[in-house]
Amino acid sequence: MTTYRPITIAKIESGIVIDHIPAGKALLISQVLGLNALARKTGDIIAIGINFDSKSLEKKDIIKVENLSLTRNMLNVVALIAPIATISRIEAGSVTEKHKVEVPDDVGDVVICPDRFCITNHEQVPCKFFVVDKNPLTLKCHYCETEFFGPLIRYKEKN
Ligand SMILES: [Zn+2]
Repeated sequence: MTTYRPITIAKIESGIVIDHIPAGKALLISQVLGLNALARKTGDIIAIGINFDSKSLEKKDIIKVENLSLTRNMLNVVALIAPIATISRIEAGSVTEKHKVEVPDDVGDVVICPDRFCITNHEQVPCKFFVVDKNPLTLKCHYCETEFFGPLIRYKEKN
């Protein structure tokens, strides 16, 4: 028998909480967003919870980042990796804003084209992809027009 275990994770006074991340994806999101490097630069706290019990998902991950606002690009990364994630903004210890992420129509330089002959894998050209299907997430390279999904979607990790 499994019982629901309520979770607590370091509370932050201001910043953002990324909740409802599919279990196992929090570290990838952190690496693609470069949160580790960011924390080293700013001195702010990042709390990452992995494999928590969830009422809506079976298991989930959660990320809290002190004093961070997500840029549009960062939000897009979260939406690609965790399409049902929710983002909460925390100010003075309270949630002031909460919304679901939205999978974007195109993707910038955060994914690697799987075609090894693609120009992006040989020259300093920033990658660009179109989202041709949101479920399952399917991308098409702007340059070589290769379409790919699932495990072929590899992200550029910053740290
Ligand atoms: Zn390509």
